[in-house]
Amino acid sequence: NTEITKEWLQSYVDDWVKFYKKETTQGKVASYIPVLKQANPNHLGISIIGKNGMTVHSGDVGIPFTIQSISKIFSFIVACIERGVAYVLDRVDVEPTGEAFNSIMHLEMRKIKKPFNPFINAGAITVTSLLNGKNSSEKLEALFELFTKILGYRPHINKDVYVSERETSVRNRAIGYYLVELGYLESELELTLETYFKQCSIEVTTEDLAKLGLVLANDGMNPHTNEEIIPRNVVRLAKALMLTCGMYDASGKFAAYVGIPAKSGVSGGIIATAPPRVRDEVLPFVEGCGIGLYGPALDDKGNSIAGIKLLKHIATKWDLSIF
Ligand code: GLU
Repeated sequence: NTEITKEWLQSYVDDWVKFYKKETTQGKVASYIPVLKQANPNHLGISIIGKNGMTVHSGDVGIPFTIQSISKIFSFIVACIERGVAYVLDRVDVEPTGEAFNSIMHLEMRKIKKPFNPFINAGAITVTSLLNGKNSSEKLEALFELFTKILGYRPHINKDVYVSERETSVRNRAIGYYLVELGYLESELELTLETYFKQCSIEVTTEDLAKLGLVLANDGMNPHTNEEIIPRNVVRLAKALMLTCGMYDASGKFAAYVGIPAKSGVSGGIIATAPPRVRDEVLPFVEGCGIGLYGPALDDKGNSIAGIKLLKHIATKWDLSIF
């Protein structure tokens, strides 16, 4: 039967969410930003939005969480649009590090001319410094406009998470001072960090991540309205970075075993994009779909432990790998 109904998909995804929810007990919620400890480690939810509009929500969806590192994709996109791709890539490279996201090690290596990539904190803080604006609201305005266009509402900053990170951010401050010393930052350090912590504290749901993923999956187009929201060349770059650097230092394994551009954050969110074509004609729904997951219990690499397993299962079953 080639007719995939929404009911069939819903019960299929529900079964697997239920199955992988058991895995949440193996992980731990992030605690270095104190407020993140309040998350319920047993939550696991997924939203999938197809090019054809078919939508599936399963598990613990509708729970707001902060976007954290997933914001780095979109601040990079905005910086490329505002300043031009060449300008941004002159200041931040596109190479995976194999080091932790908040490592300061490579900044000390004088032969390194710029941060390795925009998804490690050194690169992301540098990218945030490139955003236009004299204060943090001006610097984040284009990012909020992009989100508003894609999500259909203007998201807000979770103040508790923002303050919690700002008050405890010794490591990001250390990175920031190194960046100042090396002359990478284009805006003043305090302003850059304030903007960076605010962008990480934007609240989203799995549905929001699926909507953002849908636009990335379809090369910057909203397939439901045929409107180009992000230039194709910028999306291509962002997706290459997601594939090579999106899942912390488990990005290689994720590329090998799941094989789709994705990015995770310490609050337990994952955004993923399916290729705009699939080989399996039985499942046209999954072609170019956007996927948003939430599972705050993390593995030792900092990725949602159950989220990764669920995504791996779905990507294998639906033959999503781009390779
Ligand atoms: N705001 C977090 C930090 O800079 C984001 C980290 C992440 O999600 O990987 O530490």
